[in-house]
Amino acid sequence: MKRTILTAASALAFVGTAQAQMQMPPLTGLYGEPTVSEVEITVDGQEPVRRPAQAVVAALGFIADLGPLQQWGIEVVKRHVVVDASMRTNLPRVFAAGDITEYPGKVRLIAVGFGEAATAVNNAAVVIDPTAHVFPGHSSEAS
Ligand SMILES: Cc1cc2nc3c(=O)[nH]c(=O)nc-3n(C[C@H](O)[C@H](O)[C@H](O)COP(=O)(O)OP(=O)(O)OC[C@H]3O[C@@H](n4cnc5c(N)ncnc54)[C@H](O)[C@@H]3O)c2cc1C
Repeated sequence: MKRTILTAASALAFVGTAQAQMQMPPLTGLYGEPTVSEVEITVDGQEPVRRPAQAVVAALGFIADLGPLQQWGIEVVKRHVVVDASMRTNLPRVFAAGDITEYPGKVRLIAVGFGEAATAVNNAAVVIDPTAHVFPGHSSEAS
C-alpha cells in the first residue's frame, strides 16, 4: 500500500512502500475530495509533478517558547535547560531531555533525544522509588 506523508512549507514527502523515498520539495497543490489523494510538487526550474498522497502534515515552523518554565527557577542558558549527565535540572525531581537540554558537547539529533529520554526516565524512577535501579535491565533478557 502506498503511503505518502507530506509536510507543507518545509515539505517533507515520503513516497513509496517499503523503500520510502524522502523528498523536500515545495508543495504547490493539494488535490482530492473529500480527502487529499494527490499533491503537487514543484522543484525550482522544473514542471510541477503530482504524487499520490494520503496525508499532509503542516510543519510551518514554531517559535519554541519556554513559557511558564521560566518562572520555575529552572537554570536556562540561551533558551535551553541545563542538565547534568543524568538529565537532572537544577530543580529537585525535574528532569529534561531532547533539544531543550544543554550540556557540554550537546548534539541536537533525534537519536540523542531518544537516549536522553531513557536516561531521564530511568534516573527519575530511582528518585521516585529508591529501590528501583537506574539500569532497568534488557527487555531481551527478561524471562
Ligand atoms: C529543519 C530540521 C531538520 C532536522 N533534521 C534532522 C535529521 O535529519 N535527523 C535528526 O536526527 N534530527 C534532525 N533534526 C533535529 C530533530 O528534529 C530534533 O533533534 C528533534 O525533533 C528533537 O526532539 P524533541 O522532542 O526534543 O523536540 P521537538 O521535536 O522540537 O518537540 C518539542 C515540542 O514541544 C512543543 N513546545 C514548544 N514549546 C512548548 C510549550 N511552551 N508548551 C507546550 N509545547 C511546547 C513544540 O511545539 C514541539 O512539538 C532536524 C531539525 C530541524 C529543525
